[in-house]
Amino acid sequence: MKKTLISIIIITTLVCALCTMANAESNSFHHEIGDITIIFDSASSFTEEEQTQLAQLITNHATGSTNNEVVSYNLMCTLFGHKYGSAELAYTTTHKVKDTAPRCKEECYSITQCTRCDHTELEIVNSSYINCCPED
Ligand SMILES: [Zn+2]
Ligand SMILES: [Zn+2]
Repeated sequence: MKKTLISIIIITTLVCALCTMANAESNSFHHEIGDITIIFDSASSFTEEEQTQLAQLITNHATGSTNNEVVSYNLMCTLFGHKYGSAELAYTTTHKVKDTAPRCKEECYSITQCTRCDHTELEIVNSSYINCCPED
């Protein structure tokens, strides 16, 4: 009886520890800019600095902001076009887009970066409204 109780306590402690770890991990891939939440895949190969830059880029894209990225084009890219690496996904939630529920817009971005220069290509691959923020 005592043994069972101890194992329950151990399991509970382990589960809690795992939850805390998972939370800490997801936080490092979680960016908030204004009304937009940007979440990168936990398996993302982007560094934290790259993610911060991409989060800003995605926000500009989502809000239609014109103060775009400063791109240093490689001569090879000017001549032959960009050489894209493999795509990575990022998820955004734009809060309170509409006045009535579902209010928030969730989008999935495909991010491809040129392996030669700073150019980043963003493409929305999925978009839907979700129940997130309550109505005012
Ligand atoms: Zn390029
Ligand atoms: Zn929301």
